[in-house]
Amino acid sequence: MKLYLDPGHGGTDPGATGNGLQEKDVVLDIALRIRDLLIGNYENVSVHMSRTGDTTKSLAQRTNEANLLGADYFLSIHCNAFNGSADGYEDFIHSNLLDSSQTAVYRDILHAEIIKLNGLRNRGKKKANFHVLRESSMPAMLTENGFIDHSGNAALMKQNAWKQQVAEGHVNGLARAFNLQEINGGTGQLYKVIAGSFKSKANADDRVSFLNSKGIQSFVEQVTISGETWYRVQAGAFTNRTNAENHLQVVRNTGIDAFIIVQ
Ligand SMILES: [Zn+2]
Repeated sequence: MKLYLDPGHGGTDPGATGNGLQEKDVVLDIALRIRDLLIGNYENVSVHMSRTGDTTKSLAQRTNEANLLGADYFLSIHCNAFNGSADGYEDFIHSNLLDSSQTAVYRDILHAEIIKLNGLRNRGKKKANFHVLRESSMPAMLTENGFIDHSGNAALMKQNAWKQQVAEGHVNGLARAFNLQEINGGTGQLYKVIAGSFKSKANADDRVSFLNSKGIQSFVEQVTISGETWYRVQAGAFTNRTNAENHLQVVRNTGIDAFIIVQ
């Protein structure tokens, strides 16, 4: 499987900005994590990136490259901005595509896997006439990973743990959509280290602050269990059980009664 992976913007084009962040930096960080996870964990995958540093590249250059490469999939990574109060995740395929198209089928899978891990409000599956979606000759999708001008979303973007989760979501989606085989025959399961589950968002935020003071990165994930809303503090997710157990011990050493869930 040949992936053309496109961190949006770069160089002289910062993309959206807010809360001391530039979109070009956040999306490059996420995309590099996607590349590393794919190459490190799956067989027969090649990843060609539109940029691996802070460089300027036109939209036409990006789609020309992908088309010339004969990529199987075009995946563009972005962050949103609006009015400071909008938040959440959404993704796009081209406006002309039917919901039954191959591109829509791939998107359905990626969307489901990304939403499982990013902890963001789900704004839904959308269509637009964006250049990279229109001019790419292979199935293409563009993801908008939170709003950089929303203080809560931006706080997540500043955490490596969150960016890793977002990358994992994209990779899990690609793996399922393209039936990628894990190196060493992995189980395909994800082991999440949970450092508390709360009815109150404020209590969950306190837990994140406490862990942060101990040098452990975590973020709050909103989940619905038996119709009730819970705020779960996630301190890492691993595809390898031993790595998850090692990290669980680190979290427990701070005095917190953490546990692992398998998804
Ligand atoms: Zn963008």
